Amino acid sequence: MKPAEAVGFSKIGLRVLLVEDTAADAELILRELRRGGFEVSGEVVQSPEQFRRRLCSDLPDIVLADYNLGGWSGIEALDILQEQHLNIPLILVSGALGDVTAVECIKRGATDYVLKDNLARLPVSIRRALAERRLHDDRRRAEEELARKASELERSNMELEQFAYVASHDLQEPLRMVAAYTQLLAERYHGKLDAQADKYIHYAVVGAQRMQTLIQDLLAFSRAGRGGLDLEATDCNLLVKDAMQNLILAAREGGAIVKYRDLPVVMVNPAQLRQVFQNLIGNAIKFRGSKPSVVQITAERANGDWLFAVSDNGIGIAPEHAESIFVVFQRLHTRTEYAGNGIGLSICKKIIERHGGRIWLESVEGQGSTFKFTLPAKEPGAALPAGTEIGSRRPDEEHTRSLVG
Ligand code: ADP
Repeated sequence: MKPAEAVGFSKIGLRVLLVEDTAADAELILRELRRGGFEVSGEVVQSPEQFRRRLCSDLPDIVLADYNLGGWSGIEALDILQEQHLNIPLILVSGALGDVTAVECIKRGATDYVLKDNLARLPVSIRRALAERRLHDDRRRAEEELARKASELERSNMELEQFAYVASHDLQEPLRMVAAYTQLLAERYHGKLDAQADKYIHYAVVGAQRMQTLIQDLLAFSRAGRGGLDLEATDCNLLVKDAMQNLILAAREGGAIVKYRDLPVVMVNPAQLRQVFQNLIGNAIKFRGSKPSVVQITAERANGDWLFAVSDNGIGIAPEHAESIFVVFQRLHTRTEYAGNGIGLSICKKIIERHGGRIWLESVEGQGSTFKFTLPAKEPGAALPAGTEIGSRRPDEEHTRSLVG
């Protein structure tokens, strides 16, 4: 190959630190680098002390080290770089080394190994080492930036959560006053003022009540993400049973059948997971179609997690809404069509994610919905009651419970 000067490349500036005890070899190496297209500046050192001293001033782009240096070895220069946390590539430029030694040097962190009688390969090796270092630096910078953004996001999320909690908590008291006094106005003065006044008072009462339920829902959402999780080995069959007890009133209107079998014992906060089942079963009942609702709950192992599915035969959800329904206060219907504030699924998402799982929807509009969520099958290091087998299935038969009132 022609030297770079001969083909007119612009030269690349290169600060070299040569660890070499033979002046003639040092000269040969530098000449080869110039021929290879580098504008070389640098210094030759011969001892560890000189090497250390040199690193205290200007840092080189690359270290080229001979292996045998009388009292020490070029590979020890690598230890000095590592000890000083310097990510500077080091290429061994040496006479013949055995394969074992060469492999050992690469394992210890040398970037490459070039024989002195094949110096023409050195510029190529240096270019590759510099490119790799650039890539490494870019990757490290990108990772640092990502970590910085993640911690910034976490901080701002915590601030937002704190804000939502304080706002919803502190708004409750004045709102209670407004609701109580508008209610009192309605009771005491209904029919005593004119019809217009009755209408205005009614709007104020309804508005205050509506705001109260919104604030309470916001507070419930906030609370779902606060405090310790207090995980316990929990039988999901019992949680579903409890959740259904709390839904008897809701189910009374249309009737509902909930089927589940062999649900596992998992490490969760029981109150929170009960809330998840309650919200999902409650929605399945609320968003039923013309037929009475049939809800099926299953669990199976998938990739080291438990994968739960809560399916119904209700009105279904168009796929384009699969993400938005998990956002706070997002609803697809008016409150006159279906009651609710659009907080239930966002609470489920928060609870499942706090437990290290994921929740999503699989649905075809008009053909029912399936909400799926995962929970880690095992919580390492958690203290379990003696004899509890986490992630086991209970040998239960299928439970079919009718919620018809
Ligand atoms: P809410 O039930 O108070 O409206 P959610 O957050 O629980 O609030 O649900 C958000 C929206 O997702 C609901 O308004 C409804 O449009 C839709 N949805 C949730 N569950 C179901 C379901 N099982 N079948 C059909 N639509 C559902």
